[in-house]
Order: sequence, then C-alpha cells, then structure tokens
Amino acid sequence: MDTTSIELRGVNAYLVEGESLVLVDAGWPWSVSSLEKAVKETGHTLAEVDGVLVKHYDLDHVGGLRRLTRSGLDAPLYVAEPDASFLDRTSKPLLCNRKGAFQRLVGVGIRKPSLPVERVEDGDEVAGFEVCVTPGHTPGHVAHLGDEVAFLGDAVRARKGAFELMPSLMSYDAGEARRTVEKLAERFEGGATYVGHGAPVEGASEKLRELV
Ligand SMILES: [Zn+2]
Repeated sequence: MDTTSIELRGVNAYLVEGESLVLVDAGWPWSVSSLEKAVKETGHTLAEVDGVLVKHYDLDHVGGLRRLTRSGLDAPLYVAEPDASFLDRTSKPLLCNRKGAFQRLVGVGIRKPSLPVERVEDGDEVAGFEVCVTPGHTPGHVAHLGDEVAFLGDAVRARKGAFELMPSLMSYDAGEARRTVEKLAERFEGGATYVGHGAPVEGASEKLRELV
C-alpha cells in the first residue's frame, strides 16, 4: 500500500493506492487546485479515484468535495452518521452544542457535493480498511484501520512524533473523544498512522496506549 500525504494549509488529505485508489478527505474549498496537482504528481487523476474516505464533517475535510467533482472526481463518499446526513443535507448539526453550532455556521460554506454518500458503520470494510467509529471531535467521526497503517483523522492530532487530544473547544464531546482514544488503542495494532493535523506517527499503537 502506497500513501501520499497531501498537506493543504494546515490539514492533510491522503491518496492511498492499495486494493483500490482512495482519497482520504478532501481539504478546504480553496485548496482544490493544490490537491489536484498533488494527485497528478503521483501519476493518477482524480477521475481514477474509486472512493473517498471521509473522516468527518468539518470544512477542512469536506470543503473541497464539491469543486473536486469539477476536476473529475466521480466516486462515492464513505461517511458515518450523523455526519453523513450533515453532508447530504438530510439533517443539521445541533445548535445546542458549541461544536455543533460551529459546524452549522461553517456548513454554510460547504456546498452539498453531487456525489453519492454511502453510510458506513463500525466494523464495515472499505477499500481494505476497517471502519472504526470514533466520535468525540464530531459525532460521526471515523478512523480507518488497516493491518499496518491507520488513518485517524481528528480523533487525535500529532505533535513531535506523539499524539495529543484535539483541543476540547474544537470537540463535540470531550469525554467521548477520550473514550475514542481508548477504543483506538484497543483496536489498532499496527505501526504507522496518518492524522488530519500533524506529521505521520510511527509506533502508533504504543503511543495511543500512552495517551490513554
Ligand atoms: Zn475536524
């Protein structure tokens, strides 16, 4: 499996060549041309992408989707509830929660992508990865676990080769975000992980247990 990290002004997207070609997240609305360029540099085009593993509904992870379709992206989006419904506009983030209210506000800038939204659940397999529902940062956040590598999104962020929790101010439910780290430490036994914010982390399963 080949992973290309695509750094997009403070957030990472990834292109993964494994049993299929998948994009992990889609960056900001304004970073679409950088993402497209990075994909081209791997020798692929967006039209070849078989699916998008969406970690959660936040502007820096889904904001680019709509414009990427104009650049040829034509693949299903794999998303867990309730973030899937926020993305296809069948429901709205809760206003009574600070992060929910923020998602609602920022959601004005997230255009509904014209791509099929496939709902995933805990334990599903997508593109050779096990879906691990990891709520906390958002209610429908997911991680994708492979045998060797995992994509953790914003369940944690990376700093100086270790993990730390996302600031609770940016989380939907800080208690749940901590339980999510325990779940990841139990479920992931591989070494390398890729996160939404920060560099790849090696020796990840051990470092997750340290964070617990
Ligand atoms: Zn986020």
